[in-house]
Amino acid sequence: MEKLHFLTAGIPSNAKDYSNAFDKLKEMNLDGLEVEFVHGVRYSEKTREAILNRNNALITHHGPYYINLNAKEEDKIEASIKRVLDTARAAKDLGAYSITYHAAFYLGDDSKILMDRMIERHKIITDTLKEENNNVWIRPETTGKKSQWGTLDEIIELSKNFEQILPCIDFAHIHARENGKFNTYDEFCYILEHLGNSLGDIALNNFHGHVAGIKYTDKGEKNHLIFEESDFNYKDLLKAMKKFNIKGALVCESPNIEIDTMILKEYYETL
Ligand SMILES: [Zn+2]
Repeated sequence: MEKLHFLTAGIPSNAKDYSNAFDKLKEMNLDGLEVEFVHGVRYSEKTREAILNRNNALITHHGPYYINLNAKEEDKIEASIKRVLDTARAAKDLGAYSITYHAAFYLGDDSKILMDRMIERHKIITDTLKEENNNVWIRPETTGKKSQWGTLDEIIELSKNFEQILPCIDFAHIHARENGKFNTYDEFCYILEHLGNSLGDIALNNFHGHVAGIKYTDKGEKNHLIFEESDFNYKDLLKAMKKFNIKGALVCESPNIEIDTMILKEYYETL
């Protein structure tokens, strides 16, 4: 990637639908959006046309919420694998840069046991995509709730096993699940340094991350907030991203969608 792109999570609130979403983003000097397949991977032909006519805007995909690669039942595991695959297939069809999803819940299982299982199930995903000539980036996301698999270390560890997999770093989730830590310049630098040292420059030059204001309890993430109403230190995050010369996509998931995304981009451009 040639630069850091600032994306809204879903279509901006002042757009009617995908037919004018990219025009609205352009008016606001934003770089693209994350297509939210949170309730299932489906889109109309009209949406498809609109997304394909996005000129040079960048898109990423968020996979369905109903994914648990550690489900107890075989059919639920298969359905979860299929949801990741379908998100990747949509990415190939629409030309998305990268896909992300919340991979699993612990359901009482130990992190070590789960790692083997996550590797095995992600191998099915990447082998299938290889057969389909689909090389979109596959990115399990760092998750916000302590019941969810997906600490920074777990996602990095998994990614080491696959050429096609890199982390989606959700900074707000890490901040929330670590009880308010990871909110200073040094801590953001630690995350990015760890990412680069573990996975190489490719991870810094092909980045996909999420950010938002966030409300949290001792169980981790509660809900997203706008920056103004949260303690999230987005300014130091952007300073750290600038220092590490991060290139790729940063998706803003604040509830005011385009407002916080513009705040991020405008601040970043002053650095
Ligand atoms: Zn997410």
